[in-house]
Amino acid sequence: MSGFEFKCKDIGMNCGFEVKGASSRDEMMQIVSAHAKGAHNMTTIPPDIASKVSSAIKS
Ligand SMILES: [Zn+2]
Repeated sequence: MSGFEFKCKDIGMNCGFEVKGASSRDEMMQIVSAHAKGAHNMTTIPPDIASKVSSAIKS
């Protein structure tokens, strides 16, 4: 278990945000949701973005 990784640019965002070491996909989705809200003005994550995020999460 080395944790999960996500990079915003992997879903096509012009954004340097990245997360390393989240302990679960659920935790990662929470971190990414908070980032999307604050940085990308997404109060909720649209389903197509959520599925892109999900497939961009690496473990
Ligand atoms: Zn971002």
